[in-house]
Amino acid sequence: MIVTMKKDTPQEEVLKLKNELEKLNLQTRDITGDNYIVFGIVGDTTILDKNFILSNPYVENVTRVQAPYKKANRLFHPENTIVEVEGIKIGGNNPIVIIGGPCSIESEKQLMEIAKEVKNAGAVMLRGGAYKPRTSPYAFQGMGIAGLLLMEKAKKEYGLPSVSEMMAVDKIDEFIEHCDIIQIGARNMQNFDLLKAVGKTNKPVLLKRGLSNTIEEWLMSAEYIMAGGNENVILCERGIRTFEKYTRNTLDLSVIPIIKKKSHLPIIIDPSHATGKWDLVESMALAAIAAGADGLLIEVHNKPEEAMSDGPQSLKPENFANLIKKGRKIAEVLGRKI
Ligand code: PEP
Ligand code: MN
Repeated sequence: MIVTMKKDTPQEEVLKLKNELEKLNLQTRDITGDNYIVFGIVGDTTILDKNFILSNPYVENVTRVQAPYKKANRLFHPENTIVEVEGIKIGGNNPIVIIGGPCSIESEKQLMEIAKEVKNAGAVMLRGGAYKPRTSPYAFQGMGIAGLLLMEKAKKEYGLPSVSEMMAVDKIDEFIEHCDIIQIGARNMQNFDLLKAVGKTNKPVLLKRGLSNTIEEWLMSAEYIMAGGNENVILCERGIRTFEKYTRNTLDLSVIPIIKKKSHLPIIIDPSHATGKWDLVESMALAAIAAGADGLLIEVHNKPEEAMSDGPQSLKPENFANLIKKGRKIAEVLGRKI
């Protein structure tokens, strides 16, 4: 961190601030200038709140040199993190993981049919929402625990580990028992109690990027989970809010190389929520593979027109299968498999 003091700050005020910082086990180094007093802070500045220094009335400006996240930072952990779920490895140069399934679990028949289809198409995991974050309180809210039990049944039948969204801390035991990857949805990316709760477990967590969050905020949320002791974090980009109305969200594919540079965590792409339109899903999924994604999370429904949520963005099983076929060819160019 580089601190610039206001012009004509009395020397004793500079010393006072430096002493405060030294009490936090940090060292300061002067950078001599003609007009301003500038010094660098050396040591573990991740523990330091920039605003603590900025609130000093003699401080003109504070610039971070080192990112505020530590455990999620590639600088301190150069090798890729591989998250293992029931023998499936996510991240590094492992095969690109395809997760398919409905937005919501609606019935046993619906889930079993879709599970069979996504399995035949080449998916290795099943997604399905049991607790749904809906904009309207009158919309279908999900089947709850009954839905998670159906996911378990589908896993037994088709060997597909499950991914499902947890919205409340009090459901943690349910998810630990009945779910393989806990999804933290976009709307809850900064629900810090939820992050702390999953941080205390060793369950893999799929952390979606918030609707309007920066990459740094997203990595800070990963840091919350990791700071609790759980390093099994998979990042998932699902589009962000912009002024654009043609698509539901704007898919920020540049996060793939950025995350790979800044972090060692695996990154997967959800082209379904990112676009909101089924006919845009394939091209964005293929682009994500080309950009180096470690996996895809795609909504698939056997009857999208009857889906209880997100029908317009759900792929029919045959389109999902075609997407995977094309994806395999792109993956090959990059020396990866699906
Ligand atoms: C979902 O995966 O069904 C979902 C609600 O996702 P998001 O949190 O990205 O909107
Ligand atoms: Mn959905």
